[in-house]
Amino acid sequence: MKRYSAFAVAREALRYQTGWERAWRKPEPKKKYDVIIVGAGGHGLATAYYLGKNFGITNVAVIEKGWLGGGNTGRNTTIIRSNYLQDPSAAIYEKARSLYETLSQDLNYNIMFSPRGVMMLAQTEHEVRGYQRTAHANNLQGVETKFIGPSEVKRLCPIIELKGPRYPVLGALWQSRAGTARHDAVAWGYARACSDMGMDIIQQCAVTAIRQEGGKVQGVTTTKGEIDCDKLGIVVAGHSGVLAEMAGFRLPIESVALQALVSEPIKPCMDVVVMANTVHGYMSQSDKGEMVIGGGADGYNNYTQRGSFHHVEETVRALVETFPMISRLKMLRWWGGIVDMTGDRSPILSKTPLDGCFINCGWGTGGFKAIPGSGWGMAELIAKGHSPLTAEFGLDRFREGRFIDESVAAGVAH
Ligand SMILES: Cc1cc2nc3c(=O)[nH]c(=O)nc-3n(C[C@H](O)[C@H](O)[C@H](O)COP(=O)(O)OP(=O)(O)OC[C@H]3O[C@@H](n4cnc5c(N)ncnc54)[C@H](O)[C@@H]3O)c2cc1C
Repeated sequence: MKRYSAFAVAREALRYQTGWERAWRKPEPKKKYDVIIVGAGGHGLATAYYLGKNFGITNVAVIEKGWLGGGNTGRNTTIIRSNYLQDPSAAIYEKARSLYETLSQDLNYNIMFSPRGVMMLAQTEHEVRGYQRTAHANNLQGVETKFIGPSEVKRLCPIIELKGPRYPVLGALWQSRAGTARHDAVAWGYARACSDMGMDIIQQCAVTAIRQEGGKVQGVTTTKGEIDCDKLGIVVAGHSGVLAEMAGFRLPIESVALQALVSEPIKPCMDVVVMANTVHGYMSQSDKGEMVIGGGADGYNNYTQRGSFHHVEETVRALVETFPMISRLKMLRWWGGIVDMTGDRSPILSKTPLDGCFINCGWGTGGFKAIPGSGWGMAELIAKGHSPLTAEFGLDRFREGRFIDESVAAGVAH
Protein backbone atom coordinates (compact mmCIF):
# COMPACT_ATOMS: atom_id res chain seq x y z
CA MET A 1 0.00 0.00 0.00
CA LYS A 2 1.28 3.47 -0.89
CA ARG A 3 2.29 5.64 2.04
CA TYR A 4 0.41 8.85 2.82
CA SER A 5 2.74 11.85 2.80
CA ALA A 6 2.83 15.56 2.01
CA PHE A 7 4.40 14.60 -1.31
CA ALA A 8 1.47 12.22 -2.09
CA VAL A 9 -1.08 14.96 -1.30
CA ALA A 10 0.73 17.38 -3.67
CA ARG A 11 1.04 14.72 -6.39
CA GLU A 12 -2.66 13.85 -6.21
CA ALA A 13 -3.66 17.51 -6.24
CA LEU A 14 -1.83 17.82 -9.56
CA ARG A 15 -3.54 14.76 -11.08
CA TYR A 16 -7.09 15.46 -9.89
CA GLN A 17 -7.06 12.93 -6.99
CA THR A 18 -7.11 9.97 -9.41
CA GLY A 19 -4.25 8.00 -7.89
CA TRP A 20 -5.53 7.14 -4.39
CA GLU A 21 -6.01 3.45 -3.55
CA ARG A 22 -8.83 2.03 -1.43
CA ALA A 23 -7.77 2.22 2.22
CA TRP A 24 -8.65 -1.45 2.81
CA ARG A 25 -9.62 -4.42 0.65
CA LYS A 26 -13.13 -5.96 0.56
CA PRO A 27 -12.30 -9.67 0.64
CA GLU A 28 -14.59 -12.69 0.68
CA PRO A 29 -13.96 -14.92 3.72
CA LYS A 30 -11.45 -17.78 3.41
CA LYS A 31 -12.30 -21.25 4.74
CA LYS A 32 -9.92 -20.98 7.68
CA TYR A 33 -7.81 -18.45 9.62
CA ASP A 34 -5.29 -18.78 12.45
CA VAL A 35 -7.23 -16.16 14.39
CA ILE A 36 -10.71 -14.71 13.94
CA ILE A 37 -11.62 -11.52 15.75
CA VAL A 38 -15.35 -10.79 16.01
CA GLY A 39 -16.04 -7.05 16.02
CA ALA A 40 -14.31 -4.37 13.93
CA GLY A 41 -14.42 -1.66 16.55
CA GLY A 42 -11.22 -0.04 17.77
CA HIS A 43 -10.41 -2.85 20.21
CA GLY A 44 -10.92 -5.65 17.66
CA LEU A 45 -8.91 -3.89 14.96
CA ALA A 46 -6.11 -2.94 17.37
CA THR A 47 -5.93 -6.57 18.56
CA ALA A 48 -5.55 -7.74 14.96
CA TYR A 49 -2.95 -5.04 14.23
CA TYR A 50 -0.69 -5.94 17.18
CA LEU A 51 -1.09 -9.68 16.43
CA GLY A 52 0.54 -8.90 13.08
CA LYS A 53 2.97 -6.23 14.17
CA ASN A 54 4.24 -7.76 17.42
CA PHE A 55 3.84 -11.49 16.76
CA GLY A 56 3.87 -11.90 12.95
CA ILE A 57 0.41 -13.53 12.99
CA THR A 58 -1.27 -12.20 9.85
CA ASN A 59 -3.61 -15.03 8.79
CA VAL A 60 -6.34 -13.13 10.62
CA ALA A 61 -9.94 -12.17 9.83
CA VAL A 62 -11.86 -9.39 11.57
CA ILE A 63 -15.58 -10.04 11.16
CA GLU A 64 -18.03 -7.17 11.53
CA LYS A 65 -21.81 -7.32 11.34
CA GLY A 66 -22.17 -3.67 10.31
CA TRP A 67 -19.48 -1.31 9.09
CA LEU A 68 -16.08 -0.99 10.75
CA GLY A 69 -16.00 1.60 13.51
CA GLY A 70 -19.82 1.85 13.46
CA GLY A 71 -20.27 0.66 17.05
CA ASN A 72 -19.15 2.60 20.11
CA THR A 73 -15.83 3.44 18.48
CA GLY A 74 -17.57 5.85 16.10
CA ARG A 75 -20.03 7.10 18.73
CA ASN A 76 -17.88 8.19 21.64
CA THR A 77 -16.75 11.62 22.83
CA THR A 78 -13.06 10.72 22.29
CA ILE A 79 -11.64 11.52 25.72
CA ILE A 80 -8.22 9.97 26.30
CA ARG A 81 -6.73 9.94 29.81
CA SER A 82 -5.00 7.50 32.13
CA ASN A 83 -5.66 8.96 35.60
CA TYR A 84 -7.18 5.81 37.11
CA LEU A 85 -6.75 4.82 40.73
CA GLN A 86 -5.74 1.15 40.71
CA ASP A 87 -2.32 -0.03 39.49
CA PRO A 88 -3.51 -2.51 36.79
CA SER A 89 -5.80 0.17 35.33
CA ALA A 90 -3.12 2.86 35.34
CA ALA A 91 -0.76 0.41 33.57
CA ILE A 92 -3.09 -0.44 30.66
CA TYR A 93 -4.56 3.07 30.23
CA GLU A 94 -1.13 4.71 30.38
CA LYS A 95 0.25 2.19 27.89
CA ALA A 96 -2.66 3.17 25.61
CA ARG A 97 -2.12 6.91 26.13
CA SER A 98 1.56 6.64 25.39
CA LEU A 99 0.87 4.60 22.22
CA TYR A 100 -1.62 7.29 21.14
CA GLU A 101 1.18 9.87 21.24
CA THR A 102 2.85 8.28 18.20
CA LEU A 103 -0.04 6.34 16.66
CA SER A 104 -0.36 8.62 13.61
CA GLN A 105 3.26 7.94 12.69
CA ASP A 106 2.99 4.25 13.55
CA LEU A 107 -0.11 3.74 11.35
CA ASN A 108 0.86 6.36 8.73
CA TYR A 109 -2.65 7.73 9.29
CA ASN A 110 -3.53 11.01 10.96
CA ILE A 111 -5.64 10.11 13.98
CA MET A 112 -5.55 13.76 15.11
CA PHE A 113 -4.34 13.02 18.65
CA SER A 114 -4.62 16.27 20.57
CA PRO A 115 -3.03 16.17 24.04
CA ARG A 116 -4.82 19.33 25.10
CA GLY A 117 -5.24 18.33 28.77
CA VAL A 118 -8.21 16.91 30.68
CA MET A 119 -9.51 18.27 33.97
CA MET A 120 -11.97 16.49 36.25
CA LEU A 121 -13.65 19.08 38.44
CA ALA A 122 -13.94 18.56 42.17
CA GLN A 123 -17.20 20.15 43.31
CA THR A 124 -17.63 18.56 46.73
CA GLU A 125 -15.20 18.02 49.63
CA HIS A 126 -15.53 14.31 48.98
CA GLU A 127 -14.34 14.77 45.38
CA VAL A 128 -11.43 16.95 46.53
CA ARG A 129 -10.19 14.16 48.81
CA GLY A 130 -10.83 11.51 46.15
CA TYR A 131 -8.93 13.33 43.40
CA GLN A 132 -6.05 14.27 45.71
CA ARG A 133 -5.73 10.58 46.50
CA THR A 134 -5.80 9.72 42.78
CA ALA A 135 -3.08 12.31 42.06
CA HIS A 136 -0.84 10.70 44.73
CA ALA A 137 -1.57 7.21 43.37
CA ASN A 138 -0.85 8.36 39.80
CA ASN A 139 2.49 9.84 40.80
CA LEU A 140 3.50 6.51 42.33
CA GLN A 141 2.37 4.76 39.13
CA GLY A 142 4.42 7.08 36.90
CA VAL A 143 1.28 8.75 35.48
CA GLU A 144 1.70 12.50 35.41
CA THR A 145 -1.32 14.21 37.03
CA LYS A 146 -1.79 16.86 39.69
CA PHE A 147 -4.51 18.39 41.81
CA ILE A 148 -4.99 22.08 40.94
CA GLY A 149 -6.89 24.85 42.73
CA PRO A 150 -9.82 26.95 41.43
CA SER A 151 -7.68 29.85 40.13
CA GLU A 152 -5.63 27.46 37.99
CA VAL A 153 -8.89 25.88 36.74
CA LYS A 154 -10.10 29.33 35.66
CA ARG A 155 -6.76 30.15 34.02
CA LEU A 156 -6.86 26.94 31.97
CA CYS A 157 -10.54 27.26 31.09
CA PRO A 158 -11.82 30.83 31.36
CA ILE A 159 -15.41 29.96 30.38
CA ILE A 160 -16.00 27.99 33.60
CA GLU A 161 -18.26 29.56 36.23
CA LEU A 162 -16.40 28.81 39.47
CA LYS A 163 -19.15 29.66 41.94
CA GLY A 164 -21.99 27.68 40.35
CA PRO A 165 -25.55 27.96 41.64
CA ARG A 166 -25.08 25.01 44.00
CA TYR A 167 -21.73 23.26 43.49
CA PRO A 168 -18.69 25.57 43.50
CA VAL A 169 -15.51 24.44 41.73
CA LEU A 170 -13.10 23.55 44.54
CA GLY A 171 -10.28 22.31 42.31
CA ALA A 172 -9.61 19.65 39.70
CA LEU A 173 -7.57 16.59 38.85
CA TRP A 174 -5.47 17.75 35.88
CA GLN A 175 -3.65 15.56 33.35
CA SER A 176 -1.87 17.78 30.88
CA ARG A 177 -0.92 15.03 28.34
CA ALA A 178 -4.46 13.65 28.22
CA GLY A 179 -6.77 14.83 25.43
CA THR A 180 -8.75 13.65 22.42
CA ALA A 181 -8.31 11.96 19.01
CA ARG A 182 -10.53 11.53 15.96
CA HIS A 183 -12.42 8.31 16.77
CA ASP A 184 -13.23 7.20 13.19
CA ALA A 185 -9.63 7.78 12.17
CA VAL A 186 -8.43 5.42 14.90
CA ALA A 187 -10.60 2.64 13.46
CA TRP A 188 -9.72 3.55 9.86
CA GLY A 189 -5.99 3.76 10.57
CA TYR A 190 -5.87 0.35 12.23
CA ALA A 191 -8.09 -1.15 9.48
CA ARG A 192 -5.85 0.16 6.73
CA ALA A 193 -2.72 -1.15 8.45
CA CYS A 194 -4.34 -4.59 9.06
CA SER A 195 -5.46 -4.86 5.45
CA ASP A 196 -1.96 -3.87 4.34
CA MET A 197 -0.56 -6.80 6.37
CA GLY A 198 -2.85 -9.16 4.41
CA MET A 199 -5.56 -9.53 7.05
CA ASP A 200 -9.19 -9.78 5.90
CA ILE A 201 -11.70 -7.29 7.29
CA ILE A 202 -15.09 -8.73 6.45
CA GLN A 203 -17.91 -6.22 6.91
CA GLN A 204 -21.69 -6.77 6.71
CA CYS A 205 -21.13 -10.27 8.09
CA ALA A 206 -22.72 -11.19 11.44
CA VAL A 207 -21.50 -14.06 13.56
CA THR A 208 -24.59 -16.13 14.41
CA ALA A 209 -23.02 -19.14 16.18
CA ILE A 210 -19.70 -20.29 17.63
CA ARG A 211 -18.78 -23.87 16.73
CA GLN A 212 -16.88 -26.06 19.19
CA GLU A 213 -15.80 -29.67 19.60
CA GLY A 214 -14.54 -31.34 22.76
CA GLY A 215 -14.46 -28.01 24.60
CA LYS A 216 -12.25 -26.38 21.92
CA VAL A 217 -13.30 -23.67 19.50
CA GLN A 218 -13.56 -24.78 15.84
CA GLY A 219 -14.86 -21.67 14.11
CA VAL A 220 -17.88 -19.45 13.61
CA THR A 221 -21.08 -19.57 11.63
CA THR A 222 -21.77 -16.27 9.91
CA THR A 223 -24.25 -14.76 7.50
CA LYS A 224 -21.57 -15.43 4.82
CA GLY A 225 -21.13 -19.11 5.78
CA GLU A 226 -18.95 -21.15 8.12
CA ILE A 227 -15.37 -20.05 8.81
CA ASP A 228 -12.87 -22.14 10.79
CA CYS A 229 -10.17 -20.86 13.10
CA ASP A 230 -7.59 -22.03 15.64
CA LYS A 231 -8.25 -19.12 17.98
CA LEU A 232 -11.18 -16.76 18.40
CA GLY A 233 -11.30 -13.29 19.97
CA ILE A 234 -14.71 -11.88 20.93
CA VAL A 235 -14.46 -8.07 20.94
CA VAL A 236 -18.03 -6.81 20.52
CA ALA A 237 -18.60 -4.33 23.40
CA GLY A 238 -22.38 -4.02 23.97
CA HIS A 239 -23.08 -7.42 22.42
CA SER A 240 -20.57 -9.35 24.55
CA GLY A 241 -23.31 -11.16 26.49
CA VAL A 242 -24.91 -12.30 23.22
CA LEU A 243 -21.64 -13.72 21.84
CA ALA A 244 -20.72 -15.30 25.19
CA GLU A 245 -24.04 -17.13 25.15
CA MET A 246 -23.16 -18.48 21.69
CA ALA A 247 -19.87 -19.77 23.16
CA GLY A 248 -21.69 -21.34 26.12
CA PHE A 249 -20.69 -19.15 29.08
CA ARG A 250 -22.14 -16.18 30.94
CA LEU A 251 -20.60 -12.78 31.64
CA PRO A 252 -21.01 -10.43 34.63
CA ILE A 253 -21.98 -7.63 32.24
CA GLU A 254 -24.91 -5.27 31.79
CA SER A 255 -25.54 -3.62 28.41
CA VAL A 256 -26.99 -0.11 28.53
CA ALA A 257 -27.30 2.88 26.21
CA LEU A 258 -24.94 5.83 26.77
CA GLN A 259 -25.60 9.14 25.05
CA ALA A 260 -23.79 12.17 23.68
CA LEU A 261 -24.66 15.31 21.73
CA VAL A 262 -22.98 18.14 19.83
CA SER A 263 -23.83 21.80 19.40
CA GLU A 264 -23.64 24.01 16.36
CA PRO A 265 -20.04 25.07 15.61
CA ILE A 266 -18.76 28.22 17.28
CA LYS A 267 -15.42 30.05 17.40
CA PRO A 268 -12.69 28.45 19.54
CA CYS A 269 -13.53 29.08 23.20
CA MET A 270 -12.14 26.09 25.08
CA ASP A 271 -8.87 24.24 24.48
CA VAL A 272 -9.08 21.65 27.27
CA VAL A 273 -11.52 18.84 28.09
CA VAL A 274 -13.61 19.44 31.23
CA MET A 275 -15.49 16.75 33.09
CA ALA A 276 -17.93 17.75 35.82
CA ASN A 277 -18.91 14.52 37.47
CA THR A 278 -20.95 15.87 40.38
CA VAL A 279 -23.43 17.71 38.18
CA HIS A 280 -22.73 15.05 35.55
CA GLY A 281 -21.74 16.37 32.19
CA TYR A 282 -18.54 16.92 30.27
CA MET A 283 -17.52 18.99 27.32
CA SER A 284 -14.75 19.66 24.80
CA GLN A 285 -14.59 21.56 21.53
CA SER A 286 -14.01 19.70 18.29
CA ASP A 287 -11.75 20.96 15.51
CA LYS A 288 -14.91 21.93 13.61
CA GLY A 289 -15.94 24.15 16.54
CA GLU A 290 -18.83 22.01 17.80
CA MET A 291 -19.11 21.60 21.55
CA VAL A 292 -18.96 17.84 22.16
CA ILE A 293 -21.07 16.95 25.20
CA GLY A 294 -21.33 13.64 27.01
CA GLY A 295 -24.29 12.53 29.04
CA GLY A 296 -25.25 9.65 31.26
CA ALA A 297 -25.95 5.98 30.84
CA ASP A 298 -29.44 4.52 31.09
CA GLY A 299 -30.41 2.99 34.41
CA TYR A 300 -31.87 -0.15 32.82
CA ASN A 301 -30.52 -2.76 30.39
CA ASN A 302 -31.20 -2.21 26.70
CA TYR A 303 -29.67 -2.41 23.22
CA THR A 304 -30.72 1.01 21.95
CA GLN A 305 -28.37 3.04 19.76
CA ARG A 306 -30.46 6.21 19.96
CA GLY A 307 -30.62 9.23 22.26
CA SER A 308 -33.56 10.32 24.42
CA PHE A 309 -34.87 13.71 25.55
CA HIS A 310 -34.60 13.30 29.29
CA HIS A 311 -30.83 12.65 29.13
CA VAL A 312 -30.28 15.66 26.89
CA GLU A 313 -32.24 17.83 29.27
CA GLU A 314 -30.35 16.62 32.36
CA THR A 315 -26.95 16.91 30.71
CA VAL A 316 -27.52 20.36 29.27
CA ARG A 317 -28.92 21.55 32.60
CA ALA A 318 -25.76 20.35 34.34
CA LEU A 319 -23.47 21.99 31.82
CA VAL A 320 -25.27 25.32 31.85
CA GLU A 321 -24.45 25.47 35.58
CA THR A 322 -20.78 24.95 34.77
CA PHE A 323 -20.55 26.96 31.52
CA PRO A 324 -23.37 29.57 31.50
CA MET A 325 -22.23 30.81 28.06
CA ILE A 326 -23.55 27.65 26.35
CA SER A 327 -27.13 28.40 27.39
CA ARG A 328 -27.93 29.97 24.03
CA LEU A 329 -26.21 27.38 21.84
CA LYS A 330 -28.31 25.29 19.48
CA MET A 331 -27.80 21.56 19.75
CA LEU A 332 -27.25 19.87 16.38
CA ARG A 333 -27.60 16.14 16.90
CA TRP A 334 -27.47 13.42 19.53
CA TRP A 335 -27.02 9.68 19.56
CA GLY A 336 -26.45 6.61 21.74
CA GLY A 337 -24.15 3.61 21.87
CA ILE A 338 -24.47 0.32 23.75
CA VAL A 339 -21.87 0.06 26.48
CA ASP A 340 -20.97 -3.05 28.47
CA MET A 341 -20.63 -2.42 32.18
CA THR A 342 -19.00 -4.69 34.78
CA GLY A 343 -19.71 -4.42 38.50
CA ASP A 344 -16.24 -3.06 39.32
CA ARG A 345 -16.21 -0.78 36.25
CA SER A 346 -13.04 -2.43 34.94
CA PRO A 347 -12.71 -4.35 31.68
CA ILE A 348 -12.42 -8.08 31.05
CA LEU A 349 -9.47 -9.27 28.91
CA SER A 350 -9.44 -12.96 29.42
CA LYS A 351 -9.31 -16.58 28.39
CA THR A 352 -12.76 -18.16 28.60
CA PRO A 353 -14.13 -21.57 29.60
CA LEU A 354 -14.04 -22.47 25.86
CA ASP A 355 -10.49 -23.47 24.91
CA GLY A 356 -9.02 -21.16 22.23
CA CYS A 357 -11.67 -18.50 22.78
CA PHE A 358 -10.71 -15.15 24.31
CA ILE A 359 -12.83 -12.18 25.29
CA ASN A 360 -12.23 -8.44 25.48
CA CYS A 361 -15.17 -6.45 26.86
CA GLY A 362 -16.47 -4.48 29.83
CA TRP A 363 -14.89 -1.15 28.87
CA GLY A 364 -18.21 0.44 29.71
CA THR A 365 -18.31 4.18 29.22
CA GLY A 366 -14.56 4.61 28.83
CA GLY A 367 -12.86 2.23 26.42
CA PHE A 368 -11.93 4.52 23.53
CA LYS A 369 -8.92 5.80 25.44
CA ALA A 370 -7.74 2.23 26.00
CA ILE A 371 -7.80 1.00 22.41
CA PRO A 372 -4.04 0.79 21.66
CA GLY A 373 -3.13 -0.63 25.10
CA SER A 374 -6.00 -3.10 25.05
CA GLY A 375 -5.10 -4.27 21.53
CA TRP A 376 -1.45 -4.64 22.57
CA GLY A 377 -2.32 -6.74 25.65
CA MET A 378 -5.05 -8.77 23.97
CA ALA A 379 -2.76 -9.67 21.04
CA GLU A 380 -0.13 -10.90 23.51
CA LEU A 381 -2.76 -12.90 25.43
CA ILE A 382 -4.00 -14.56 22.22
CA ALA A 383 -0.50 -15.18 20.83
CA LYS A 384 1.26 -16.33 24.04
CA GLY A 385 -1.55 -17.22 26.45
CA HIS A 386 -0.38 -14.57 28.92
CA SER A 387 0.19 -10.82 29.04
CA PRO A 388 1.33 -8.67 31.97
CA LEU A 389 -1.06 -5.95 30.80
CA THR A 390 -4.15 -8.19 30.97
CA ALA A 391 -3.17 -10.52 33.84
CA GLU A 392 -5.36 -8.81 36.47
CA PHE A 393 -8.37 -8.41 34.16
CA GLY A 394 -9.33 -12.10 33.90
CA LEU A 395 -12.87 -13.41 34.33
CA ASP A 396 -11.67 -15.34 37.39
CA ARG A 397 -11.52 -12.11 39.42
CA PHE A 398 -15.31 -12.12 39.77
CA ARG A 399 -15.26 -15.64 41.21
CA GLU A 400 -12.32 -14.90 43.50
CA GLY A 401 -13.48 -11.45 44.61
CA ARG A 402 -10.35 -9.66 43.28
CA PHE A 403 -12.26 -6.63 42.04
CA ILE A 404 -10.43 -3.70 40.43
CA ASP A 405 -12.72 -1.00 41.73
CA GLU A 406 -12.74 1.99 39.38
CA SER A 407 -16.23 3.25 40.12
CA VAL A 408 -14.85 6.70 41.00
CA ALA A 409 -12.66 6.97 37.90
CA ALA A 410 -15.03 5.29 35.48
CA GLY A 411 -18.52 5.12 36.97
CA VAL A 412 -19.86 8.31 35.48
CA ALA A 413 -16.76 9.68 33.82
CA HIS A 414 -15.44 8.59 30.45
C1 LIG B 1 -21.87 8.15 23.84
C2 LIG B 1 -20.58 7.49 24.22
C3 LIG B 1 -19.52 8.28 24.67
C4 LIG B 1 -18.31 7.68 25.03
N1 LIG B 1 -17.27 8.49 25.37
C5 LIG B 1 -16.06 7.94 25.61
C6 LIG B 1 -14.94 8.80 25.85
O1 LIG B 1 -15.04 10.03 25.82
N2 LIG B 1 -13.74 8.21 26.09
C7 LIG B 1 -13.59 6.86 26.14
O2 LIG B 1 -12.49 6.39 26.42
N3 LIG B 1 -14.64 6.02 25.86
C8 LIG B 1 -15.85 6.53 25.60
N4 LIG B 1 -16.91 5.71 25.30
C9 LIG B 1 -16.73 4.24 25.35
C10 LIG B 1 -16.07 3.72 24.09
O3 LIG B 1 -16.70 4.24 22.95
C11 LIG B 1 -16.10 2.20 24.05
O4 LIG B 1 -15.62 1.66 25.27
C12 LIG B 1 -15.22 1.65 22.93
O5 LIG B 1 -15.44 2.33 21.73
C13 LIG B 1 -15.48 0.19 22.74
O6 LIG B 1 -14.82 -0.21 21.57
P1 LIG B 1 -15.00 -1.67 21.03
O7 LIG B 1 -14.09 -1.83 19.88
O8 LIG B 1 -14.86 -2.63 22.16
O9 LIG B 1 -16.55 -1.74 20.64
P2 LIG B 1 -17.35 -1.23 19.36
O10 LIG B 1 -16.72 -0.05 18.74
O11 LIG B 1 -18.78 -1.11 19.80
O12 LIG B 1 -17.18 -2.44 18.35
C14 LIG B 1 -17.81 -3.67 18.52
C15 LIG B 1 -18.25 -4.14 17.15
O13 LIG B 1 -18.76 -5.47 17.25
C16 LIG B 1 -19.73 -5.61 16.26
N5 LIG B 1 -20.56 -6.78 16.52
C17 LIG B 1 -21.46 -6.96 17.52
N6 LIG B 1 -22.06 -8.16 17.41
C18 LIG B 1 -21.51 -8.77 16.33
C19 LIG B 1 -21.72 -10.03 15.69
N7 LIG B 1 -22.63 -10.91 16.15
N8 LIG B 1 -20.99 -10.34 14.59
C20 LIG B 1 -20.08 -9.45 14.11
N9 LIG B 1 -19.85 -8.24 14.66
C21 LIG B 1 -20.55 -7.91 15.76
C22 LIG B 1 -20.50 -4.29 16.33
O14 LIG B 1 -21.23 -4.05 15.14
C23 LIG B 1 -19.38 -3.29 16.57
O15 LIG B 1 -18.94 -2.66 15.39
C24 LIG B 1 -18.15 6.26 24.95
C25 LIG B 1 -19.21 5.47 24.49
C26 LIG B 1 -20.41 6.07 24.11
C27 LIG B 1 -21.52 5.21 23.59
